[in-house]
Amino acid sequence: MKVYIDDTICKGCGICIYYCPKNVIRFSSVQNRKGFTTAEVYKIENCSGCKLCEIGCPDFAIYVIKEATQTIVAKE
Ligand code: SF4
Ligand code: SF4
Repeated sequence: MKVYIDDTICKGCGICIYYCPKNVIRFSSVQNRKGFTTAEVYKIENCSGCKLCEIGCPDFAIYVIKEATQTIVAKE
């Protein structure tokens, strides 16, 4: 699972942090160029892929990618 936050778009509203049931996201300790304290991913290992963060973000600044599972091909 990967969660990306575009900190050039994020305005630090905190909705994704509030929505995330797994505490994957928190506020960053730095500000972006617009002066917003943005969200950042810090416990990606807890992510369930529910996409509540992505759905809730009003600015489309966060998105979730489920990594492809490895395909094992049996040889004859
Ligand atoms: S996909 Fe779900 S668990 Fe993962 S960061 Fe977003 S809200 Fe949290
Ligand atoms: S909901 Fe979107 S704009 Fe708000 S803090 Fe999260 S990523 Fe940033």
